[in-house]
Amino acid sequence: MTQRPSLTLIGGGLVGALLARQLAQHGFAVEVFEKRPDPRRAGFLGGRSINLALAERGLQALRTAGLADEVLLRAVMMRGRMVHATNGTSGLQRYGVDDSEVIWSVSRGALNMLLLDAAEASGVRFHFGQSLLDADFERRRIRLADEDGTLREHDADLLIGADGAGSALRAAMNAHAPLGERIEPLGHGYKELEIPAADTLPPELAQQAGGQGCFALEPHALHIWPRGGYMCIALPNAEGSFTVTLFLPAQGPHPSFATLPDAAAARAFFAADFPDLLPLIPRFDADYAGHPVGTLSTLYLDRWHLDGRALLVGDAAHAIVPFHGQGMNCGFEDTVTLAELLAASPHDSAGVFAEFQRIRQPNANAIAAMALENYVEMRDSVADPHYLAKRALGAQLAERIPGHYMARYRLVTFTHLPYTYALERGRAQDVLLEELLHGAPDVEAVDLDAAAAMLQARLSPLPVLR
Ligand code: FAD
Repeated sequence: MTQRPSLTLIGGGLVGALLARQLAQHGFAVEVFEKRPDPRRAGFLGGRSINLALAERGLQALRTAGLADEVLLRAVMMRGRMVHATNGTSGLQRYGVDDSEVIWSVSRGALNMLLLDAAEASGVRFHFGQSLLDADFERRRIRLADEDGTLREHDADLLIGADGAGSALRAAMNAHAPLGERIEPLGHGYKELEIPAADTLPPELAQQAGGQGCFALEPHALHIWPRGGYMCIALPNAEGSFTVTLFLPAQGPHPSFATLPDAAAARAFFAADFPDLLPLIPRFDADYAGHPVGTLSTLYLDRWHLDGRALLVGDAAHAIVPFHGQGMNCGFEDTVTLAELLAASPHDSAGVFAEFQRIRQPNANAIAAMALENYVEMRDSVADPHYLAKRALGAQLAERIPGHYMARYRLVTFTHLPYTYALERGRAQDVLLEELLHGAPDVEAVDLDAAAAMLQARLSPLPVLR
């Protein structure tokens, strides 16, 4: 192998650690500077969601790095959305056709530590407690501060920023040559609460809630309590607890985080809007008062790189709202594309960075749009009869003509087709479903043979999947 350039990564989070692993596997010397202390020694200092949904795109990247089986050993399978109505009834809406199409709840901390171990085992050198302050792109040097504020400089020929939505490398690049940054706040925030394992709750509560074994709710589902303009969701953790996330407008009329300033107000709100959920959260007051309100935004950049000197990946380049469960999955897809491009042309970083942006940016924009649309779907449409009719019709068509119809959610979540394709195909399919249901009182009134023939005539066949 010819001598490959050394690479300096900023950020050893999910994307940085997985990218470092793959670059090292391709023979690059990789150093990573991470702001936080080593989570394997200091404990994981969260800050963002405690658990996340891993889907096929992320799994495929983990397979490429030889880590998928190990990650799945610690993950909890989620077959679909368990939708909880205000009257306490609930029903499962499957994501895919069967258990070959499921998503996985993984612990952010455990996954990050596994990726750090794997990267180190491949030869990556980590420097923890080192926060990037700024970069001198002319001298090709970066300035870092440790936890005591001690400054150090480091030579860095090729810089890759995986330092998340608030990226310091992005700020340094933007100061050197504007990147065309636009940050669009969603206007809604989130707060995390916890349903503990069932054995810590009164037995009748978990029984009523449909719990199983050590779980107080059905474990193999992503739970949603849709309430129109806001919602709660809950994802299972392997040891039996669930992490609940309340999504709510940040400001404005009730209910918003502004109108629920303390645990007492929030408790009264939950008692009215989430009456079945509240008793499952015994530490409600402490969780509500102690956990911060997180903000949610979409980040758009015109440029992701500074010629061949610096490149942004993952949330640093394209942070999105979390409602499709794809931010990490998209960032993981980035790592495979970038590692393969660099391995193929190790001495042409300018060409590689430009090509990376050409391939990934339209896809990042597409998933950003779909993630925003999915918020409305999750908090509102999943309980709407017209949405449910469209969903039922789509499911029947998918069974009848699988080569011509696949729901957009499945295209995004269970295939490797580009996000741009999923967005366009989803729009075209949606127009046809609307047309078929127009004037039909319900799905039963639709002539399925005629509907299938129409879709086959008007839509090109789906590409070979995966
Ligand atoms: P980060 O995870 O933010 O990691 C950045 C790293 O850089 C951190 O370790 C940080 O300490 C370090 N760093 C920051 N600044 C510096 C600095 N100056 N110097 C050195 N190091 C620095 N995605 C999914 O796929 N599925 C989900 O279900 C999902 N759910 C989510 C729920 C919520 C509430 C939120 C907010 C996000 C969710 N996401 C989900 C998105 C996902 O969290 C992100 O896309 C993912 O964490 C991006 O990884 P990253 O490594 O790019 O950034």
